[in-house]
Parts: sequence; structure tokens; C-alpha cells
Amino acid sequence: MKRIALFPGSFDPFTKGHEDIVLRGLTLFDEIIVAIGFNSSKSVRYFEIEFMIDRINTTFKDYPNIKVATFSELTAEFARRNGARYLLRGLRNTTDFEYENSIAQVNRYLNEELESVFLITSPQFASISSSIIREVHRYQGDVSSFLPYKL
Ligand code: ADP
Repeated sequence: MKRIALFPGSFDPFTKGHEDIVLRGLTLFDEIIVAIGFNSSKSVRYFEIEFMIDRINTTFKDYPNIKVATFSELTAEFARRNGARYLLRGLRNTTDFEYENSIAQVNRYLNEELESVFLITSPQFASISSSIIREVHRYQGDVSSFLPYKL
């Protein structure tokens, strides 16, 4: 059976840290769906969702087994509907761990066939976060070295 993993997130924007998790995830899974969630508490985006879909598709244009999707429902439900048995997430630090731990418990409760899998960030990406990139970009700072595509 094909091992399909969902990599859910806001990806506002998608960063080199995210790219690294996806590419390393390919050693574990046959297919990865990068799933941009919206309509959550973070519903006001900085980068348009269509723009981000386009940039993620460009980033992975040579990988037919990496797909991009959007969703506005429970992650566990979206995973079930797409045949994904794994949720891929990245961990940078203990703050991420605290947050991811509770999400993973809830997702397990909602869909017990869904296994959360965590990859520890590569050190060169450990301090990259979408929120910092948004702040730098807002004030016309150069964020190009944090992104795997051109803005
Ligand atoms: P969310 O809004 O769900 O936290 P994000 O887009 O911020 O979504 O992040 C998606 C996933 O990528 C999360 O698991 C997050 O911890 C992880 N992640 C974010 N930045 C990095 C990074 N630099 N290195 C590794 N993982 C990361």
C-alpha cells in the first residue's frame, strides 16, 4: 500500500525549513501532500494562498510524488479523505514540541489510524520561522535566503 503523508501547515510563507522536512520525509513516504490550512484562527494571511500554492509547486516541480492542496476542515478528516495514514510535522525546539504534542493527541483521538511523525529540524534551518520572515518582509528586508523560490 502506498504510504501517503500529509504535511499540514499555514505556510505563510513556505520556507527552506519546510522544504527540508518535505524532502527528508520522502525517504519515509511514497507521497507527501503539502496541505495549506485556512479558515483557522490564523485566517488573515500575509501571502495569498494562490501565490503560495504556485511557489510550492515551483519548488517541487521535479517531484511528481509531492502534491499541494488546501483544506478548511479538520486535519484528521482531510487526511482520511485523501488516504493519508501519516501526519508529517517538523520540530525546532521545546515550544514546538509542547504545541505538536497536544495537536498529535487530538488528531489521534479524532482518527486513530493516523500516525504523527516528527522530524527534527536541520540545524541550518532551526531559526527560520514564517512569522519572522513576514516581519522582515513587511519592512522591505531581504528574505530571499530563507525561501526555496523567488518572491
Ligand atoms: P502551523 O501554523 O501549523 O504551525 P507552519 O506553517 O508554521 O504551520 O509549520 C508547519 C510545520 O512545519 C510545523 O510542524 C512546524 O513546526 C514545522 N516547521 C516550521 N518551520 C520549521 C523549520 N524551520 N524547521 C523544521 N520544521 C519547521
